Amino acid sequence: MTDRKRSLSGIRVTGRFHLGNYLGAGINYVRLQDEYESYIFVADYHTLTTKPNAREFSNDLYEMVMDLIAIGVDPGRTVIYRQSAIPKVAELTLLLAMVTPLSWVQRVPTFKEKVRDQPDNVNLGLFEYPVLQSADIIIVKGDVVPVGRDQAAHLELTREITRRFNRTYGHVFPEPAIVLNPDAPIIKGTDGKAKMSKSLNNIIGVTDPPEVITKQVMSMVTDTKRVYKTQPGHPRTCNVCAMYKLFFDDWEHYWELCRRAQIGCQEKKSLLAKRIVERFAPFRERRAELTREQIDEILAAGAVRAGEVAEKTMVEVRNAIGLPPYSQL
Ligand code: ATP
Ligand code: MG
Repeated sequence: MTDRKRSLSGIRVTGRFHLGNYLGAGINYVRLQDEYESYIFVADYHTLTTKPNAREFSNDLYEMVMDLIAIGVDPGRTVIYRQSAIPKVAELTLLLAMVTPLSWVQRVPTFKEKVRDQPDNVNLGLFEYPVLQSADIIIVKGDVVPVGRDQAAHLELTREITRRFNRTYGHVFPEPAIVLNPDAPIIKGTDGKAKMSKSLNNIIGVTDPPEVITKQVMSMVTDTKRVYKTQPGHPRTCNVCAMYKLFFDDWEHYWELCRRAQIGCQEKKSLLAKRIVERFAPFRERRAELTREQIDEILAAGAVRAGEVAEKTMVEVRNAIGLPPYSQL
């Protein structure tokens, strides 16, 4: 272990890795691993709030780790592990819950969104999600957390919980800072309305085969005010045009063509699909070389490394609170 500052982030196993995951957070997983001691975990505990049987997503878990490596997360420089391989994170969650006022968690907007998305399964885990997330981060004493903008409220809550813990028991944890990609907003889904989300059917993949990506892009909802190609478009309110800003240096040129009705929505989508397929070709190539055996080894090594760090933190935590040390149990 080094004395470099630490970076930590996690991702749920609720579907395939998508453009929002990559542009919002993944790009920074890769960038930060040179400078920081980096940790990335596949959040299987968090996934249980949506899918109660972990066996059902064990295959997706492999896929997710492969995606992470494909986009450039390097197991030689980043500790990659499965969240539930570190059961002490559950102990820390319980202890953090004792210093977290109920009203702080009630304020979190994502809870209300999830209630709307899965009204038949509003479980306590869903409500407690930000407390578990705080434990994930601070159990490795994360200094920085690369996430998308949709996670900003959670991170703010983590900082408050950390401060409250430190005030109550003495300084144990650094206050983790959010790291955003300045060039990316919250990416909207192909429906043009909701945030692109693994658990909604509105994604554009990053490592998927070209034909899948093309199909997803071609399904995007475009400018709803433009019925015929001969009518001028409204790039400011069109999700496809918003994507042009992310994938084309000369996006203004295309916006202008759209305003003048010199390019149609279908044509714009097919150019965009081509561009996305090209841009992510190296990811697909890297992914094709990975085997399940390699992933098993990476996760096993990651569990050992992350487990050591978590153990060390929890020894301090129990001591700060006045609980007996593990050695005396
Ligand atoms: P789920 O539907 O299960 O919540 P998700 O697609 O929102 O899946 P998460 O696992 O919750 O993905 O988040 C992984 C990372 O991707 C987080 O850092 C999150 O902020 C980021 N992220 C997710 N969706 C977007 C988006 N549409 N735009 C920008 N960043 C995003
Ligand atoms: Mg999410």
